[in-house]
Amino acid sequence: MTIQLEHSGAKGTVIRAFGNLLQASFDGDVRQGAVAHICLGDIKLKAEVIEIAGKEVKLQVFEDTRGIKLGTPVEFDNHLLEAELGPGLLSAIFDGLQNPLEKIAKEYGYFLPRGVYIPALDRTRKWEFTPKAKVGQKLSRGETIGTTVENRFQHQIMIPFSQYGEYTLTWVAPIGSYTVEEVIAKAKDEEGKEHSFRMLQRWPVKNQLQEGIKIRPTEMMDTGLRVIDTQFPVMKGGTFCSPGPFGAGKTVLQHHLSKYSSVDIVIVCACGERAGEVVEVLREFPHLIDPHTGESLMKRTVIICNTSSMPVAARESSIYLGATIAEYYRQMGLSVLLLADSTSRWAQAMREMSGRLEEIPGEEAFPAYLASRIAAFYERSGVLSLPGGKTGSLTIGGAVSPAGGNFEEPVTQATLAVVGAFLGLSRERSDARRYPAIDPLISWSKYGPAVSNELDAKLDVWGPCVKRTARILREGDEIRKRMEVVGEEGVALSDMITYLKAELYDFAYLQQNAFDKEDAYCPIERQLVMIALIYKIMQSELHFTSHDEARAFFLALQNRLKNMNYLPKDSEEFRRTRQEILTLIEG
Ligand code: ADP
Ligand code: MG
Repeated sequence: MTIQLEHSGAKGTVIRAFGNLLQASFDGDVRQGAVAHICLGDIKLKAEVIEIAGKEVKLQVFEDTRGIKLGTPVEFDNHLLEAELGPGLLSAIFDGLQNPLEKIAKEYGYFLPRGVYIPALDRTRKWEFTPKAKVGQKLSRGETIGTTVENRFQHQIMIPFSQYGEYTLTWVAPIGSYTVEEVIAKAKDEEGKEHSFRMLQRWPVKNQLQEGIKIRPTEMMDTGLRVIDTQFPVMKGGTFCSPGPFGAGKTVLQHHLSKYSSVDIVIVCACGERAGEVVEVLREFPHLIDPHTGESLMKRTVIICNTSSMPVAARESSIYLGATIAEYYRQMGLSVLLLADSTSRWAQAMREMSGRLEEIPGEEAFPAYLASRIAAFYERSGVLSLPGGKTGSLTIGGAVSPAGGNFEEPVTQATLAVVGAFLGLSRERSDARRYPAIDPLISWSKYGPAVSNELDAKLDVWGPCVKRTARILREGDEIRKRMEVVGEEGVALSDMITYLKAELYDFAYLQQNAFDKEDAYCPIERQLVMIALIYKIMQSELHFTSHDEARAFFLALQNRLKNMNYLPKDSEEFRRTRQEILTLIEG
């Protein structure tokens, strides 16, 4: 089963090859960004036109280029690199060119042979279609023709986004089951020309898919990670990045967010990371349960994976494919989270290609357009006020893996310039096994004040407590540094107390055990209870006669507070421990 290709008629031949960059001469019309096929006997390798000069093009090939010779024929399509959009995307696992990997595994074993493309959406599966629009109704791109049920969502079948202008419906299919390729509606455009619509539509992945007006994010995305929700919150429709050195926990963090974030749909782009990790995701995900719905997590997830063993050009397409699928679901009024691990691998692919194109290099040999590409990617996020009155959001979070954990390098810097929250993982914290290793002393979030306003309504001391603890963490760190020089007894008792408060907050609240059933996910209601208690501790005037006495007191407090994280919130023991803590600080 392969896709029917629409050729533009243009044909060419390879005249030069340099890794996966080819130069070809051609006849006919070729578009910038068009898809091309390198014909090696029976197999056709997918490529993309990246530069046109006269009657020559430069092509980047998405596959292993072994066997390509001078004179190898090339065929050109008249469309850009596109994503297939429609019901059946959820639960799927795609590669960067949207080949469904599970199907490939069934038909060809684990590795995809070169030149094999399988349609992203199943052509035989039937979907129950319910018409919503009526004959005579005027509709434009993105407006709903009907719906189908995809897992627990009402999947909106919309006027294709590539169809601009107004359409008057002349026919809508009755309730029934249809494949994605069957016509479900017909309409006349403003010139009276008739068009047929199907559940399947296509969109060029590198172009932003957006119909509606961008509005300010107003709602927080609950992640169940205390250090994020309390200290560095993220809003639905916002952006964040998590740079960190190798092994600091970026992937574990992304997995956590994909499991627990309070969004409807999650798109996971595993881009250029180790193959073993990807296999792990594929093995683990189908067994995970969504804590918000009790259903299999896969039902709200799309996984796009390119491991480091796949050609680098496919990394770029996987990032754009992920963004396009995410935008498509946002148009239905859903909240979507797009996670990319890691954007550094994508940037490296850009660097490689730019080098082959002999472009003038920017910093660290990255292309000069690196920053604008990164900015354009994060700009695909946002809350949209949709034509039908609903809103949809797309939150984007990217892991960044700078060599040696050096945040001064171009990819981290370009990312920091555009995101709304910076969750920086530090080697210091991961070495000390202070997980998640998000360092509260370097991280920041621009969404803090807005989220505090939202949560202050539920707990009046939320905002003050967050500010207070942030200050205590900084002060505690300074005191710790001093203590390293002068010893514990060398600092004033009042400073020692500040230091112990900082340690208590870090150890018993910010740190969280990803592998404990109770602690892994801490919903916001639970964070509210804990913050109320922590505020009491932070505010309490404690008097001690010696450093040792202070240390012993905080140790007792710390053990109890930490223990609460492992107890169910409505258990008797949770309540009793809370009471013990109150007695300790009041006594
Ligand atoms: P990175 O993607 O930054 O290279 P990983 O996410 O793969 O790093 O994490 C490396 C290892 O660190 C994990 O295999 C795990 O043992 C440990 N680790 C990371 N985050 C946590 C966490 N939150 N809790 C416990 N262990 C963690
Ligand atoms: Mg990783």
